[in-house]
Amino acid sequence: MSENKGGIFSLYFRTNLLVRILVGLILGAIFGIVFQKANGAIEFLAPFGDLFIRLLKMIMVPVIVCTLIVGTSSIAPSHLGKVGLKVIVFYMFTSLCAIIIGLLVGVVLSPGEGLELANISGVAKEAKAPTLVEILLNIIPTNPFGSIAKGDVLPIICFCIFFGIALAFSRDSKEENIKKAADTVYAFFEGMSDVMFRVVGWVMQYAPIGVFALIFIVFSKNGAEAFGPLANVTISVYIGLVLQIVLVYCAICFFCKLSPMTFLKKVRPPMITAFVTRSSGATIPVSMETAEKSMGVPRSIFGFTLPVGATINMDGTTIYLGVCAIFVANVVGSPLDLSQQLTVVLTAVLASIGTAGVPGAGAIMLLMVLESVGLKVEAGSVVAIAYGMILGIDAILDMGRTSMNVVGDMMGAVVIAKSENELNEKVWNS
Ligand code: ASP
Repeated sequence: MSENKGGIFSLYFRTNLLVRILVGLILGAIFGIVFQKANGAIEFLAPFGDLFIRLLKMIMVPVIVCTLIVGTSSIAPSHLGKVGLKVIVFYMFTSLCAIIIGLLVGVVLSPGEGLELANISGVAKEAKAPTLVEILLNIIPTNPFGSIAKGDVLPIICFCIFFGIALAFSRDSKEENIKKAADTVYAFFEGMSDVMFRVVGWVMQYAPIGVFALIFIVFSKNGAEAFGPLANVTISVYIGLVLQIVLVYCAICFFCKLSPMTFLKKVRPPMITAFVTRSSGATIPVSMETAEKSMGVPRSIFGFTLPVGATINMDGTTIYLGVCAIFVANVVGSPLDLSQQLTVVLTAVLASIGTAGVPGAGAIMLLMVLESVGLKVEAGSVVAIAYGMILGIDAILDMGRTSMNVVGDMMGAVVIAKSENELNEKVWNS
């Protein structure tokens, strides 16, 4: 008997995580449809879903703090120069375009509409929409540790960016003792970041069960109709990604007198690698090889732009954040108003800097974006269930968004090389 149990456990852990989550999703949907309105089963499974949400929330703030500080402090100001500044401005610009596209697609296609779970429990929406000035002022924390303790997302991001940039300057200091001390601080956060991602890895081992429970609840309450919104959000994200290529990257190519067709043809190897690995970090070697051998970008440029891009430039993730924020808001019957959409623009662009280039990192950022607009992901809440639905299909969304993250990085490398007159036209046209 115990041998049998061991067998099931080892089978569970040996099976690819993606497959397990997908199985959790499918079984949750099937059982939910079969056992409709099964209140006893819903009550029994609810704590299993809550456990998953609580585990994710447990790691949210430490992950953001560590990855943002490491991300912003990893670029030495003395190495930044004109090219560095140019690439950072370029990446911020494309991320801004991406979030606008994500929100527009979300508003037009309105994923999640029709599946309103709001009747399950109250929605934690802010009582009064803040004004634009209030939103901007509230970004500055009066007490960063208070913000961290309360989990106030935008002030945390703001503080970490200040901290990270200052740390980068200290690491660059001419005074040996300051440089040494700052390097120790950096190493601390880098170590913390690694530790946190280990915890993320463990939490994700539980994801299949959590997803099963959350999806069961949705389908048991709503029947097969819940499939529609899930398909809708997936299609919306992918439409957003395609629009980013057509409206942003192709337009940039035209503007820089580069053939968009050549770019799209040549960018395929890193794009496919990112799709399969779901990690822009892991795709860097393929991106570098493509940038050098097939696009003609010099090493001095891609050596900086691609690693920086894989750390701070996440156009696909930004689109996903916009569409999914609208999806969750619709599902809980509390569509985002204009000031909340503005908050999403700010949070998503800043969050993309703090998104690590590893599988599933964007899903933690979504948690943060939702909290920033007052959609509190509390265990047992409707928001948590809607968020759980997204987690169920996260792998499918992650493939697309990671591809776009990498395409955006490659675009940056090519455009900067071209603007510096360093693009090898012979290789580019070959
Ligand atoms: N997987 C993405 C990347 O590596 C990040 C994310 O989850 O959005 O670029």
